[in-house]
Amino acid sequence: MNLNIDQIRGLFPVLHQEVHGKPLVYLDNAATTQKPKSVLDRLTAYYEQDNSNIHRGAHTLADRATRDYEEVRETVQNFIGAKEAAEVIFTKGTTEGINLVAKTFGYKFIHEGDEIIISTMEHHSNIVPWQMLCEEKGAILKVIPILDSGEILFEEFEKLLSKKTKLVSIVHASNALGTINPVKKIIDAAHGFGAKVLLDGAQSTSHLEIDVQELDCDFLTFSAHKLYGPTGLGILYGKREILEAMPPFLGGGEMIREVSFERTTYNDIPFKFEAGTPNIADVIAFKPALDFINGIGKTAIKGHEDELLQYANDLLLPIKGFIPVGTAQNKVSVISFNIQGMHPFDVGQMLDARGIAVRTGHHCTQPLMKRFGIEGTVRASFSVYNSKSEVENLAESVSRIAKIKN
Ligand code: PLP
Repeated sequence: MNLNIDQIRGLFPVLHQEVHGKPLVYLDNAATTQKPKSVLDRLTAYYEQDNSNIHRGAHTLADRATRDYEEVRETVQNFIGAKEAAEVIFTKGTTEGINLVAKTFGYKFIHEGDEIIISTMEHHSNIVPWQMLCEEKGAILKVIPILDSGEILFEEFEKLLSKKTKLVSIVHASNALGTINPVKKIIDAAHGFGAKVLLDGAQSTSHLEIDVQELDCDFLTFSAHKLYGPTGLGILYGKREILEAMPPFLGGGEMIREVSFERTTYNDIPFKFEAGTPNIADVIAFKPALDFINGIGKTAIKGHEDELLQYANDLLLPIKGFIPVGTAQNKVSVISFNIQGMHPFDVGQMLDARGIAVRTGHHCTQPLMKRFGIEGTVRASFSVYNSKSEVENLAESVSRIAKIKN
C-alpha cells in the first residue's frame, strides 16, 4: 500500500516550519513523535468543554470526562490485544511502568538470591529500577550479551535461565540500534523456568503489531508520546492474576475501597494502581493518536518506514567515513551511526544547521555504548510522516559533513 505522505504530513502542524532558514526535517522520532492536529484539538476541547475530575462526580461534565477516559482504556486494550480493559493501567510513561513493576511485583516476589535478566541493549529505564531492587533485596542482575550486529545471543540467554530467574525484563525494539528482539522465543523460554517477562515496548508499539495474549508477555509498558500522543502518559499492561497479586504502588485517593485509621482496603485493578487524580486530559487526547495509527494500520506504517530505512541504508552506507552501529536484519526504522574522526554531537549540530533534527549521544544506553567501545552515536529515526526526499536530504548532508574529515 502506497501511503499519501503529503496528506499525512498535512495533519502535523509542527512539521511545517523552517529551522535555521531550512525546512524542518524531523528525524528524532525515537525520542518523541510529533502530534497530529486531532490530538491538539482534543486536548483543547477537553479543557474548553469537559474539564472535571473523574470517577466520583455526580454531574454531567464529570460523567462525560469519566466516559471518555474509560473509553481510551478500551481503545488501548484493543490496540494491544489485552483480554480486558482492567489490565490496562495509565502511568506517566514507560519509565514509571517499569518502576511500578519493580516496586510492587519485585518488592513482593523477588527475594535474596533470586535473579533478574535484562539485555546489554536496555535503556537506563530498564536497568536502574532493577539495580535498585537487587540492592534492596540481595537479588542478582544478569545481562544477556549481544553480537557486534546488535543482536542478542539467544543461546547465552538460555544459559542464564534457571529456577532462580524470577523476571526477564527486555526491550522489544532497541531505541539506540533499532534491533527487534525475538521476544516470543524469549517469553516462551522464560516461562519454561516459571519466570515472568516484562516487555519494554517504548520503541515497538508504534511500529509493530502487538498482541499481548499471543505473545503471552506478563507485562508490557510504553509511552503515549512515542505514539503520536501527549507527553506525561504511559501504559502498563499486566495479566489480571499478576496485577491482583501485586501490592499497590502509590497510596492515596482512587486506589482505595475503604479507609479507616485502623486499616485500608484497596480498590480493584486497574484503579488500585492509579492513585490520585490521573492525567485525564492527556489520556483523553491519546484516543485520536491511536485512531490515527489504526486508521493507517501498522502494516502500512511499518511498510513505509522499512522502505525509508532501506533507502537510507542504500544512500548512507557508501559514504566514506560512515560507520553504522547496529546492523541487525530485523529492525525498526532507526539508523545509528558515527562519522570517522568526528564527535557525534558535532555531527548533530551540523545537521541541525541544515534543519535536520537527529539525536546524538548515548541515548540512555551507556552500557550498550561501552559494549561497542564508543561514547555515543548519531541517531536518525523515521516515522510515518517522513518522506524519501527527507532521507535524500539527510544522506546529502551526511555526505558533505563526512567530507570534512574523510
Ligand atoms: N525504554 C526505551 C527503549 C526507550 O526508548 C525509552 C525512551 O526513550 C524509555 C524506555 C523511557 O521512556 P519514557 O522516557 O517515555 O518513560
